[in-house]
Amino acid sequence: MSPESQLNIFGQTTSEPISATNFDLIPTISTIPIPPGTYGNIAQLTTHCQTCHRCELGNTRIKAVVGRGNENASIMIVGEGPGQNEDEQGLPFVGRSGQLLEKILAAVKLTIEDDVYICNVVRCRPPENRVPTPAEVAACKPYLLEQIRLVNPKIILLTGATAVKAITGKKEAISKIRGTWIEWEGRLCMPIFHPAYLLRNPAPDVGKPKWLMWQDIQAVRAKLDETLSATSH
Ligand code: SF4
Repeated sequence: MSPESQLNIFGQTTSEPISATNFDLIPTISTIPIPPGTYGNIAQLTTHCQTCHRCELGNTRIKAVVGRGNENASIMIVGEGPGQNEDEQGLPFVGRSGQLLEKILAAVKLTIEDDVYICNVVRCRPPENRVPTPAEVAACKPYLLEQIRLVNPKIILLTGATAVKAITGKKEAISKIRGTWIEWEGRLCMPIFHPAYLLRNPAPDVGKPKWLMWQDIQAVRAKLDETLSATSH
């Protein structure tokens, strides 16, 4: 099917989810957008990502890494892209960074299984773990936006500068804007340090990255409690 035919089909069906058997109608060319509302659930999106070649990262991946955790979570965490472990297992944040992230969440009584959904800006591993290019981020962004729409989190934590820029467009250094709340599309977002950065800077002293992360995660816990209590009344 030509790209133009795909576009015409989308022009007529943007409000209705594509059925799981109609993946050949979903644009695989990055210049053709994937309209909001395309996927009825994360499983459909995951199936499609495994065959996606909207950017060159699709040529070198082992597995597309879509997400893990509670698909109805109140908190979504967005990282940069899969590393080697993630590429091999098809799951985000499964290496040492993931273990540290789980510890940080556990400190404020949050678990990935119950409270959090984790994903990345790009779903396929950039070679040599390089930063994804703007074109790769743009090609993969419709999937990220669909995941946000489907999970519908109250709070989005943006780990590192690539995630902050991809979602909010802000280009400030993460050290300048971490711990601040940014409203985006009616949701609360907070930039935080990437766990990999904390592994490289393990000192727990006051004012150091690990200490700052502790402040941030406590602020997130407090905001979540406040939000949940406001919606339960
Ligand atoms: S990174 Fe995203 S857009 Fe690129 S091939 Fe993988 S799933 Fe498709």
